[in-house]
Amino acid sequence: MTPYDASSPGSTIAPARPALVDGFGRTVSYLRVSVTDRCDLRCVYCMAEHMTFLPKAQVLSLEELDQIASAFVGMGVRKLRLTGGEPLVRKGIMTLIERLSRHLASGALDELTLTTNGTRLAQHAPELAGLGIRRLNVSIDTLRPELFTRLTRGGDLSKVLAGVEAAQAAGLAVKINTVALKADNAGEIPELIAWAHGRDMDLTLIETMPLGETGEDRTDQYLSLDRVRRELESYWTLTDLPLSTGGPARYVQIEETGGRLGLITPLSHNFCEACNRVRLTCTGVLHSCLGQEDEADLRAVLRGGGGPVALEEAIRAAIDAKPKGHDFVIARGAAPALARHMSRTGG
Ligand code: SAM
Ligand code: SF4
Repeated sequence: MTPYDASSPGSTIAPARPALVDGFGRTVSYLRVSVTDRCDLRCVYCMAEHMTFLPKAQVLSLEELDQIASAFVGMGVRKLRLTGGEPLVRKGIMTLIERLSRHLASGALDELTLTTNGTRLAQHAPELAGLGIRRLNVSIDTLRPELFTRLTRGGDLSKVLAGVEAAQAAGLAVKINTVALKADNAGEIPELIAWAHGRDMDLTLIETMPLGETGEDRTDQYLSLDRVRRELESYWTLTDLPLSTGGPARYVQIEETGGRLGLITPLSHNFCEACNRVRLTCTGVLHSCLGQEDEADLRAVLRGGGGPVALEEAIRAAIDAKPKGHDFVIARGAAPALARHMSRTGG
């Protein structure tokens, strides 16, 4: 058995090695893993209508995903988020989750979680809960069935709502992610917040980010969350919460609804000082910053025959070079800041 024989449920991680600390003194404790670039939806801000997906050979196998994620856990990462594309369309995803859940059982990992579009949640929620998943993020941009179908280019809102219900029934805490879209859901944001808070779910609003060609002009959709906040404050009482997740979200409590609202504002505010996260694409490329072109090819290390030491060295070198911050700009007619789609990098 190699040290990375992930097939053994009892395989353990070597005792704590030095934590992953970047060149600016930030400790990396959170890894987001895109397990597939594929998706059963085609959200207008995320994908082009006719996407060309990657050949399977380029995508990490379940075992490779486990090896890399587990190497990070061995170096002190405490939180793993599986994303995509749509993680629940990846064949064998439940096997991967089951394997990774050994790190929850051993105490090496605090949290294993997913960001999902919810279309397949109804069928998977009980098993996810059984494997130790405690929380999920589900993306919903509108509660209007027709608009949902248009924004996702074909999705069925009722399936997603059934997924949310099933997740809650299985005891999973659900947070709703909503991309703020000037032309489409701006007027519906208070309703979405009231709906989520009424069902004991936090909601996080996200500004559109210029990642990958989608065939749409993003300046038509970009809505500053500063503006949204000012509007919400005209009728609700928003109290800033000190809660920091080391990520781009700031949180407020809405006194009238009793729920929490997160605001992810990569464009109107810089959130990089406290950044604790890195991202692995489904092809094994490690991006230490969502908004820069920096990358380290971990698949090449694995497929080139590199063992655990080579993998660890490659990861540490990439973290050491983590950029100070991003410089996203949305300008009319401008090309996307980065050519890669969010679905490949993992949102
Ligand atoms: N398919 C899953 C889902 O939709 O939740 C997981 C992957 S998706 C890329 C993760 C999150 O990124 C979703 O909440 C989605 O709305 C968001 N997203 C995708 N493209 C985006 C963009 N260009 N700007 C901002 N958020 C984006
Ligand atoms: Fe698929 Fe999620 Fe992108 Fe929508 S946001 S197209 S659900 S990956």
